[in-house]
Amino acid sequence: MHVMTKPPRTVTVRLDNHAYEIRVGAGLLAYAGEMIASLLSPKKVLIVVDSHVASIHLPSLQDSLTAANIESVVATVPAGENSKNITELLPLYDVFLNARIDRRTPLIALGGGVVGDMGGFIAATLLRGVPFVQIPTTLLSMVDASVGGKTGVNHSAGKNLIGAFHQPHLVIADVATLQTLPPRELKGGLAECIKHDIIRDGVHFSELESSIDRALSLDPDYLAELVAHNVAIKARVVETDPFEKGERAHLNFGHTFGHAIEQASNYSYSHGESVGLGMCAAAFAATELKLISPQDRSRIVSLIAKAQLPTKGMTLPTDELIRLMGFDKKVASGKIRFILPDRIGHVVIRDDVPAAVVRNALESL
Ligand code: NAD
Repeated sequence: MHVMTKPPRTVTVRLDNHAYEIRVGAGLLAYAGEMIASLLSPKKVLIVVDSHVASIHLPSLQDSLTAANIESVVATVPAGENSKNITELLPLYDVFLNARIDRRTPLIALGGGVVGDMGGFIAATLLRGVPFVQIPTTLLSMVDASVGGKTGVNHSAGKNLIGAFHQPHLVIADVATLQTLPPRELKGGLAECIKHDIIRDGVHFSELESSIDRALSLDPDYLAELVAHNVAIKARVVETDPFEKGERAHLNFGHTFGHAIEQASNYSYSHGESVGLGMCAAAFAATELKLISPQDRSRIVSLIAKAQLPTKGMTLPTDELIRLMGFDKKVASGKIRFILPDRIGHVVIRDDVPAAVVRNALESL
């Protein structure tokens, strides 16, 4: 069991009719039972976890729940994105609805974004909604998926097409769990951290340029600081635009290009790798449109490379990528919307990027 050496950093997300805390620190899993007990006083909790995380981190969570006199009912899904569909959800409803629960019984999602999204959707729909606690265990789910209340599953027609907004009551991000994360997953999460600084915080971008190695070497103090910083950025965006009607679109920086790359590569580029390449393409387009200087573009590309993410060498056919971008769901009224930096730390939304610039940006990779 990890021992918490420092008090957690806390970021509060304040929405119109709901506020919740995101607690970040090393060793928090051992205190999860205590935290949940003092907030929600449950006798019983439901846990959704994937098969992989269950074998590593579930025992510590269950020990802490037992110590707080909380019974747990666990449902496990096979690890991986392939589980994120409605068919895999059905047996979980069976387990939970047979467990004598009521509307105050909290549901905990322990794991990455896959179980976070699935668990959140169950929490939104079980008995028309039960309290939801997120315990993210990947860097991506800490800095991105666990903030903002988007839940759901994939459909054969596309990703995340069945879902609901359901805000958590509490998020516990124990950065000690990242020690067991495969390095490729860690780097994927760093892509989202870099994205946050490009869209919102040029000062922290400079800081990350000099400190990203501390994240790669899993320095727990630095990871706690990094996660808290990123959670705060995402929280501020979500507070301003909880239902993605306006500025929340800034979070899609790198994603219009990135989703096409991810799909065209048949997912051989991971999401984080695709977003990294997508941010390089967006930085290229921003330079062509004279929004940022070539120096700023090269700082962006260098930081992505420092995170050990690919920045070039892509051989996917440009025509196919352009076709896929046309089908991206972020298409507003027939025009492709791009989020582009006009300096490091600030972005603008543009729907007038010439096709030639898009093509050159893709071919720059
Ligand atoms: P994931 O949940 O599949 O986790 C990646 C892999 O890491 C899995 O094999 C998992 O078992 C393993 N893992 C998780 N934690 C671990 C740990 N601490 N140690 C060892 N292994 C561990 O993937 P992800 O990247 O966390 O999330 C991707 C999902 O998140 C996608 O489905 C995406 O759509 C979703 N997402 C949602 C939002 C949102 O706002 N709701 C935002 C971004 C992404």
